[in-house]
Amino acid sequence: MSECLFCQIVDGTIPAEIVTRNERAIAFRDIDPKAPTHVLVIPTEHHRDLTALAAADSSQVADVLALAVEVAELEKLESGYRVVFNTGADGGQTVFHVHAHVMGGRRLIWPPG
Ligand code: AMP
Ligand code: ZN
Repeated sequence: MSECLFCQIVDGTIPAEIVTRNERAIAFRDIDPKAPTHVLVIPTEHHRDLTALAAADSSQVADVLALAVEVAELEKLESGYRVVFNTGADGGQTVFHVHAHVMGGRRLIWPPG
């Protein structure tokens, strides 16, 4: 998917600040952070959203979540953090390559808007 922004981060065409990676997922800093730690975790394989990823290969969901937990450890978010998959238009998704937001470093309010 050469026109996909996050596929271009995977292939290195667009630069990103990589935090960590595993065999099938990459974590990089959000370009417009909404919390002191705001990292995106994506599968290296293109799927448009969480529904599509889970339908294609649920083991990749596990890879993404495992890397999200590793980000929380690396960023020392011992007092808490949030993992969010915005999914679809009503879910607030704007980039259609599935990604988990890992956010922390401040008290997060609930419910989100
Ligand atoms: P969502 O609205 O859930 O689809 O989240 C998309 C996220 O991608 C937003 O938080 C953006 O700030 C972030 N974003 C967009 N372009 C880039 C980029 N080039 N590098 C890092 N993060 C980006
Ligand atoms: Zn993509």
